[in-house]
Amino acid sequence: MALPKSFPSLTSKQQDDLIYNLQHWSLGNGLVMFPPNFKSYQPVNAPVTLFPTPFPRDSFNDALAVQPSFNEIYSNISSLENEKWLLDIISELSSFDKDFTGRLLDCYLKAKKIGITQPLSLGLFRSDYMLNSTDNQIKQIEFNTVSVSFCGLSSKVGQLHSYLNNIDAYGFSDYYLENELPISDSINEIADGLADGNYYYNKRELPEAETAVLFIIQENERNAFDQRHLEYSLLKNHRVKSYRLQMDQIPTLTKTDPETKRIYYLPTNKEISVIYYRAGYAPSDFKTDLEWNVRTDLETTKAIKCPTLLTQLSGCKKIQQILTDKSVLSKFLKNDAKINQILKTFANIYPMDDSSNGLLAKKLIEEDASNFVLKPQREGGGNNIYKEDIPKFLSTLNKEEFGSYILMELVKPATYNNKVIRQDEIYSESIVSELGVFGTTLWNSETSEILTNKVAGHLLRSKFSTSDEGGVAAGFGCIDSLYLY
Ligand code: ADP
Ligand code: MG
Repeated sequence: MALPKSFPSLTSKQQDDLIYNLQHWSLGNGLVMFPPNFKSYQPVNAPVTLFPTPFPRDSFNDALAVQPSFNEIYSNISSLENEKWLLDIISELSSFDKDFTGRLLDCYLKAKKIGITQPLSLGLFRSDYMLNSTDNQIKQIEFNTVSVSFCGLSSKVGQLHSYLNNIDAYGFSDYYLENELPISDSINEIADGLADGNYYYNKRELPEAETAVLFIIQENERNAFDQRHLEYSLLKNHRVKSYRLQMDQIPTLTKTDPETKRIYYLPTNKEISVIYYRAGYAPSDFKTDLEWNVRTDLETTKAIKCPTLLTQLSGCKKIQQILTDKSVLSKFLKNDAKINQILKTFANIYPMDDSSNGLLAKKLIEEDASNFVLKPQREGGGNNIYKEDIPKFLSTLNKEEFGSYILMELVKPATYNNKVIRQDEIYSESIVSELGVFGTTLWNSETSEILTNKVAGHLLRSKFSTSDEGGVAAGFGCIDSLYLY
């Protein structure tokens, strides 16, 4: 295997200069987040690495190559022809997790009873991978179907590292060659995905400017600029306006026509073409019944949902586990070569139920839990149980609850001694990285016809190798870029 060149070695004066330039570039170009308990005028530079992190070019290309197949699989899973298959799995999970999965399912069933009026469905997905250090094989960690983040800041960190390289902040002129530092164009490509939704909503008729995109956001969103970059691109490249509302603002600031089910943003009376969720993936987003009712009502509007409830539910970890079975996977992807490509990206994942694989899983953790992570059906970080904590955790559960978890083999990526900057603190610790590939797809969930299917850029997140989880906002992780070798 080819070896990457080492990180630049800098004098302390050079490192100080680099940090000065890094902070200014970040603040000047919106590579920023709000800190906890922020004031609206006080964003800070987002946590990033000082250097791009080595990543094998072939493995990167593998991850890009499988994205259209993943887009296809998940659009098929959440189309009506597979509704029964999906709902059977979700109903079973719901019996263990009544308060979240169960309520999302209720929303879907209620919406269906009222009537779902829009057959088109938009997916903005992100497939996350770690690299097996022994053979550089990409292994999928998770497939995200709702509220995927960092498409905005990812473009920015790639531009930042490229800028630092161009001003010789890495010590020598062109320490990295231009083609070694791929810059993710995810800001524009994800915005293109939203624009596709807007375009098809209008039956492919211009001008599109008559309708707007509605971002559903969380209160006090700290990662607001990641979303804003998308909005600015959507307006600049497509002349499509966007609005930002929390779920609890929907009843007062929107109006849905009871006949046509078209939804309007009241302050401007603009019709909404796409409802894009950057909220609604965690129980904390639903404070009262109001939010649950809003989620149901929005599903019945004419606007294209990104994602629909079915698509959101298809992203649960149980589905990821079930798909590792080739006979299941081939239900959703018809091409043998593509199926084999996808199978290579799967780590071993086991159910925790009473099936033979479930019994095997329990035996494996009894023998040695140190190679595994146990995952519940939750999104957004901080929910998994790692290694030696697994047996103790399981002993607190009722046996009947086991089935709502999956057990996954830990992927062991290479570690690198990059440096991380959080505000003004520099950490020199070994890190591991997780590559995300974005995809956008628009399909007709009634006919399963796929109208667009695109790869939409990438993301590298890194975390200290001593930490199991990697949440960027939570303080464990940072945004990174690729140095391809
Ligand atoms: P979430 O929905 O919380 O993002 P993930 O499945 O992505 O859940 O897990 C969170 C983090 O835990 C990942 O970003 C990764 O750092 C770590 N992790 C999860 N699964 C594995 C695995 N199989 N091998 C190594 N690390 C893992
Ligand atoms: Mg994740």
